[in-house]
Amino acid sequence: MVTPESPGAGDRPGKIADPHKLADIIHSGLMDPDFYNVAEYTYELQMTMFQAVGGMDQIAKALEKKVAPMLKMGAEVTAINNLAEGVQIKYKDVLGEHLLNGDMCICTLPLPVLSNISNNFSSDVSRAIDYIEYIKTGKIGLQFKRRFWEEDEHLYGGITHTNNDLTQIFYPSYDYLGKKGILIGYYNFNEKAQKIGALNYAEREKFALEKGRLIHPQYDKEFESSFSVSWHKTKYNLGGWAVYNTDTRKTQYPALLKPDKQVYFAGEHLTYLNAWMAGAFESARSTVAALHARVTDGRASYPMVK
Ligand SMILES: Cc1cc2nc3c(=O)[nH]c(=O)nc-3n(C[C@H](O)[C@H](O)[C@H](O)COP(=O)(O)OP(=O)(O)OC[C@H]3O[C@@H](n4cnc5c(N)ncnc54)[C@H](O)[C@@H]3O)c2cc1C
Repeated sequence: MVTPESPGAGDRPGKIADPHKLADIIHSGLMDPDFYNVAEYTYELQMTMFQAVGGMDQIAKALEKKVAPMLKMGAEVTAINNLAEGVQIKYKDVLGEHLLNGDMCICTLPLPVLSNISNNFSSDVSRAIDYIEYIKTGKIGLQFKRRFWEEDEHLYGGITHTNNDLTQIFYPSYDYLGKKGILIGYYNFNEKAQKIGALNYAEREKFALEKGRLIHPQYDKEFESSFSVSWHKTKYNLGGWAVYNTDTRKTQYPALLKPDKQVYFAGEHLTYLNAWMAGAFESARSTVAALHARVTDGRASYPMVK
């Protein structure tokens, strides 16, 4: 077995390690990943990507600034009802229950949440809301005293795919060689997410550390704290994103693309870009164009920019 060596000066030409056996590669799970393993070749994950300085929520915060006076924060919608003219929303906040009447409503609530909200939608719309499935998914953030993956292993960003319930470990692509660092210790889906999501926070942390140290023994010495989320158990999500099959795409999806009287539906779940923010943006553009066309006799259509 050849021990690899990097090429260097003088008499150091370097040595290439023995190749992995094809059977080992196939049995590693590479051919059947839970998450993209050929990211650069898929439509959603192109080579050159940008990231928002300060984290992705800066995008939502920048949008919030533009519409702040129109927002009502801390308001939980509990009912949406079409009226003979207009629509009535019931919501609650710290002060109690309130009614709000409007001409139109664009409802962007995730479908599993909407499914539990009182409404007078048509039977086709109600059925679609109930039938379209959402993925179960979970993540844990692990904070370490030292960025050992960079200092010891030269990993700057990227993903380790695992063949256990972690599914994958994500390395941060910012603050390289900084003092401390946070890894995504697991990011899993479906049954794995259900199993790990059923654990309490301390048990999830124990699981992430036990499995993760098989790859990075530095976990033992460097770990500081953790934070985990299980989206299917989070009250205002109840799932990660919509997952369609050929049947639901054909039978349920179209019911939500049209308004139910004065109520329009929008969000990631009403696109072919599921699980991406781009889907939410495209859906917003499409729905706003449809609503605009309705009130201006057709003087707008989607896509609005070619
Ligand atoms: C684990 C995970 C990883 C992801 N990774 C990426 C990624 O790397 N890149 C990417 O582009 N996208 C990613 N996404 C997808 C992206 O987050 C979604 O596509 C996007 O947020 C969907 O936007 P939306 O407006 O349709 O829905 P949401 O962002 O879910 O907005 C719905 C809003 O409704 C609110 N709400 C719920 N119930 C009520 C109620 N009763 N009353 C009032 N308000 C309510 C919620 O609080 C929420 O603010 C990820 C999603 C998950 C779960």
